Amino acid sequence: DKYVYAFGNGKAEGDAGMRALLGGKGAGLAEMSALGLPVPPGFTITTQVCTMFNRHGGQYPSGLEADVAKSLATVEKLTGARFGNANRPLLVSVRSGARASMPGMMDTVLNLGLNDQTVRGLATQSGDPRFAYDSYRRFIQMFGDVVMGVDHHHFEDILDHHKKINGLSLDTELSAHDWQDVVCEYKLKIHEQTGRDFPQDPRMQLWDAISAVFRSWSNARAVTYRRLNNISHDWGTAVNVQAMVFGNMGDDSATGVAFTRDPATGENALYGEYLVNAQGEDVVAGIRTPQQLTVAGKLAHRSKLPAMEEVMPEVFQELNAVRHNLEKHYGDMQDIEFTVQRGKLYMLQTRVGKRTASAALKIACDMVDEGVINEDQAVMRVDPGSLNQLLHPTLDPKAERQIIARGLPASPGAASGQIVFSADEAERLAHAGQKAILCRAETSPEDIHGMHAAAGIVTTRGGMTSHAAVVARGMGRPCVAGASEISIDYKANTMSVRGLVLNEGDLVTLDGGSGEVMSGHVPTIDPELSGDFTRLMRWADSKRKLGVLVNADTPEDCRKALEFGAEGIGLCRTEHMFFEAGRIVAVREMILANSETGRRKALKKVLPMQRDDFAEIFRIMRGLPVTIRLLDPPLHEFLPHGEAEMHEVADAAGVSVEFVRERVIKVREVNPMLGHRGCRLGITYPEVYEMQTRAILEAAATVAKEADVEIEVEIMIPFVAVESELRIVKEHVDQTAKEALAGEHKVHYVVGTMIELPRAALNAGKIARQAHFFSFGTNDLTQTTFGLSRDDAGSFLPTYENRGIFDKDPFVHLDVEGVGELMQIAVERGRKTRPDLKLCLCGEHGGDAESVNFCHEIGLDCVSCSPYRVPIARLAAAQAAL
Ligand code: PEP
Ligand code: MG
Repeated sequence: DKYVYAFGNGKAEGDAGMRALLGGKGAGLAEMSALGLPVPPGFTITTQVCTMFNRHGGQYPSGLEADVAKSLATVEKLTGARFGNANRPLLVSVRSGARASMPGMMDTVLNLGLNDQTVRGLATQSGDPRFAYDSYRRFIQMFGDVVMGVDHHHFEDILDHHKKINGLSLDTELSAHDWQDVVCEYKLKIHEQTGRDFPQDPRMQLWDAISAVFRSWSNARAVTYRRLNNISHDWGTAVNVQAMVFGNMGDDSATGVAFTRDPATGENALYGEYLVNAQGEDVVAGIRTPQQLTVAGKLAHRSKLPAMEEVMPEVFQELNAVRHNLEKHYGDMQDIEFTVQRGKLYMLQTRVGKRTASAALKIACDMVDEGVINEDQAVMRVDPGSLNQLLHPTLDPKAERQIIARGLPASPGAASGQIVFSADEAERLAHAGQKAILCRAETSPEDIHGMHAAAGIVTTRGGMTSHAAVVARGMGRPCVAGASEISIDYKANTMSVRGLVLNEGDLVTLDGGSGEVMSGHVPTIDPELSGDFTRLMRWADSKRKLGVLVNADTPEDCRKALEFGAEGIGLCRTEHMFFEAGRIVAVREMILANSETGRRKALKKVLPMQRDDFAEIFRIMRGLPVTIRLLDPPLHEFLPHGEAEMHEVADAAGVSVEFVRERVIKVREVNPMLGHRGCRLGITYPEVYEMQTRAILEAAATVAKEADVEIEVEIMIPFVAVESELRIVKEHVDQTAKEALAGEHKVHYVVGTMIELPRAALNAGKIARQAHFFSFGTNDLTQTTFGLSRDDAGSFLPTYENRGIFDKDPFVHLDVEGVGELMQIAVERGRKTRPDLKLCLCGEHGGDAESVNFCHEIGLDCVSCSPYRVPIARLAAAQAAL
């Protein structure tokens, strides 16, 4: 095996394709060097060595030492300097560099090779003793900290003390003699702390530093970072050893970082900062105010300091040429680091630059126009999830914010308003033209009107598929869920968090994209969908195989979804309509009746209202396919709360309050989510589904006539576990349809089912005998496969994620291994029975890019998601197909 890859002098043994082996930094250096860009020579020790080193208790593979020695000799030849030579010493940097960027997580040592002899050589050679001794003390400080484990505060204390007794305030005021004194004290401190001398032998320094970098792969913060960012612990880091160049050799030297395009807007111009007479770490450390590279940047940042373009025009031009060169070569925007040593430019790093969603769109479209990439590549360039940023208002990044609590980022967007603790109050405020933030321990379907009226929603309990999260995403309302530090006192109409008490009417702001709740009003900025967005989405649509539908149950949702490119409705949940004002009483009357006659009497009141709802939806959808699910939630959820509501129901039904109270107790369930819900309702109370079927088909018939369109309706039966459940319900639906559609030719309907129970997935072959289509309800399927409660899992899911038991929240990203396997089984068995079975997914995963990719892989026909996630699904589906 080859463990060491050299680069420099317009050549390289590695290339950009070897990220896994050389790490991002090593691969970038090799590629730049081979391109003929000015890269100081050096070599990369592979990530494979890191893995071996950490597995074998700090042992290196045999032959490594010789390879390093050989590569070092080449660097010596190319630089004309010698490692450890007192006259012309070679100094090197030793840096980590993993496959994925892990900023600041691992260790780096600069100026390695300095000792009591070579520092004098550096002083003579540079003609600047002050610079030489400053470099030496930086080296001792870094080496002492990183390699020898002497905490950096010891060094800072020494430096501070030295400045104090000499009446100095800035590092730049220290003379060569001052630094010499500091160097002495540093060495003494190291001896005192470790019992060892600071090593004078450069080769020993080098190997110690290499080992320290390899070991830093396993330090606590790197391990945590990898866990949080889904980076494998097995990858390891590479070590890059490279000849030092100095940005701190006077005013014709500098160091800086840049993006080849503006990472915020995507504008095609060099964008970045630099510091004159400074070493790399000074830019990141933020001690001095960096200067802008371009004059335009200077004006935009209202900087008084001159731009590089003005101070070093030639070097600037050279840097700009490198920018074009790199972009053309990589076909993407790059994030680069450079150093200028006495007027000469050196490149130290290049990698693909991170960018905002709007910059990503602009860069992708511009690069297609520039002929740098094609449309397929452009589609691959934009992270589907990032489109969220574009569709919702966001906090003004310049605004100040005071965070009072954090919860889950359940639904993106930002909103400010007065806090209220009930749905009714939210609605009242909205009617009065004011903005409300609805704060609840959790929400239920009863709160829909208030959630709709509110500008934003905060809950203190529940996870990413809790009622609040699902509904808020559907409505496009910002929502922070499970902000458990907050406690709400409904009686006092207050909420408190860490000693701070907020009253109803107090202003808060929430950011549903980050999960933060802030006090007061924080200004927001509105989204604007650019032409780039439309263009890229058009390309995406031409590539994807999956259909993209919407989960929508209000006219507003439907309109929004069409605007975002939905091709129909994949899930219309009818229960939300049951809670609308004016019908909840009749619905309760129906549930609490103890006879079919009683229920039919109440359903008669509901029918015309449901019919109108459906008609409105059919009108908006103008003949696009619409899948309507018959009533699903447990009856439990519709029960009246409190005396007043019971009286209301009793009056409407013409029965006594005692009767109502008794029935409430009877209907109440301990486990409603596994209770009297879904098709179980349709079987026990067939008249409910009968009413809904009639309402749907009559509405479709009316609109078909009115608008002269053909209407396709899919009637979907929820929570089926056994074939005969579906058979019984379907027979009843067909019977009702025959009556409702007598003589009607423009309305076509089919019956299908949700697959949301493991038994249904396993029995898909039988169930498909009754079903024209399946739609995977992965919210319930996840819940029932894991035996996890959608609403309560929030109390331990974070621990499970932190401990690595769950990679990710299975309610957000589909669990491919478990739930996914059940889906695959269902697809296979279902299609065996009915080859033209239509297959869709309509759980929350339909708006998650990874899950959409899985749906493509297993050959589903479509996914359905909430309106604001339709563009995400479209783009993710295209990426899956490419
Ligand atoms: C599901 O279970 O995935 C689903 C779409 O239905 P609901 O969320 O309404 O239970
Ligand atoms: Mg469900």
